[in-house]
Amino acid sequence: MKIKFYTLKNMESSIHFNKLSNDQKEAIKVVGSVLPFRVNNYVIDNLINWDDIPNDPVFQLTFMQKGMLSQENYEKVKDVLYNENSTQADIASMIFKVRKDLNPHPAGQLSQNVPKLDDMEVEGVQHKYKETVLVFPSSGQLCHAYCTFCFRWPQFIGDKDLKFSTDKDMEYLNYLKENKGVTDVLFTGGDPMIMNTKMIKSYMEPLLSEEYSHITNIRIGSKSLSYWPSRFTQDNDVDELLEFFQKINQSGKRLAFMAHINHPNEMKTEEFVKAVKNIQSTGTIIRSQAPLLKHINDDAETWSTMWKRQVQLGIIPYYMFVERDTGPKEYFSVSLSDAYEIYQKAIQNVSGLARTVRGPSMSATPGKVCVDGITTINGEKVFALKLLQARNSNAVNRPFFAKYDKEATWLSDLELLEDNDKLFF
Ligand code: SF4
Repeated sequence: MKIKFYTLKNMESSIHFNKLSNDQKEAIKVVGSVLPFRVNNYVIDNLINWDDIPNDPVFQLTFMQKGMLSQENYEKVKDVLYNENSTQADIASMIFKVRKDLNPHPAGQLSQNVPKLDDMEVEGVQHKYKETVLVFPSSGQLCHAYCTFCFRWPQFIGDKDLKFSTDKDMEYLNYLKENKGVTDVLFTGGDPMIMNTKMIKSYMEPLLSEEYSHITNIRIGSKSLSYWPSRFTQDNDVDELLEFFQKINQSGKRLAFMAHINHPNEMKTEEFVKAVKNIQSTGTIIRSQAPLLKHINDDAETWSTMWKRQVQLGIIPYYMFVERDTGPKEYFSVSLSDAYEIYQKAIQNVSGLARTVRGPSMSATPGKVCVDGITTINGEKVFALKLLQARNSNAVNRPFFAKYDKEATWLSDLELLEDNDKLFF
């Protein structure tokens, strides 16, 4: 199968485009001018039920909807786009303003996560947790399709100031060589699997040498497994790719494939199952993670179905995230209270093998904060919280509490019970 991308420019060449109402077409144009839009032929031909739009979860996952911008911003962008007197500069200026409103870099990514080597910032690297470094390969800054909820949207809008991307000297290698406390490297993007195998090797193969013996786990964060499974079954260089995966595992390091799967419908095709088997045949462990999203997967049955199917395929359920405070958050967000209830019901309905999944977890400035329960202390209803990962490693796994707030959707909405807990933040 050959990949074909649809964007705002050529969307009308898809036969499916005729099924969209005029309002939907307008929303794609207006919202797609602010947030990145791109979808491939595999997703639209295999994963979307076109008789169930706009409710189909994968349609919601890839096609812009009007509510993804505030009404005010939607109207402003629409006015400037549809006004025949608007100049390109007018349009660009409005889009720039609206993007700034959308909190493009949440959780201190630009200000707190970029490490330094010899007093110089290391380009394309984030180092937030002691053991784990994130690398953003410059050649992997695209995806097989863009997810409408994606918190990485600033990577795709062509703004150099908002983008993480490695430099041509691959300074991240020197940084990793110097930092012997790092055990895990996560290659992320965009999607690293957008790169051909030669390019993937150029980023990862150096880590197999002796000077990186402290790196024991190489992770790849990717949505390709469900959005372009042919990457592991049919693409021209698939044999070389699978051999390389095997080589990593045989080197004594572990390759972990962190699959982003939002809905069971993404796992329906034979191509997906074949891709899973091919990756696993190399000794690679596949784990799954996804945010909880209104309009897509905000019910317990969807999650328990997804986890059961994953366990059946040998995929380890890993994280349920809370939608991050960026981009179209308002459209997708589920309250922390509802998120906890959904997680609880879902986890109660699966066997112990699927209870490896942690959540609902917020990737916030201090770390990954999990809503661990809703309980009562001295007659007061509270959230029990826990840092699953923390910028301050002394805070990992430490329970703390916040006043219950039914409407809260993020850590910043919460009032901590003990002032001392703020020290960890
Ligand atoms: S594949 Fe991942 S990085 Fe790419 S748009 Fe989707 S969530 Fe974002």
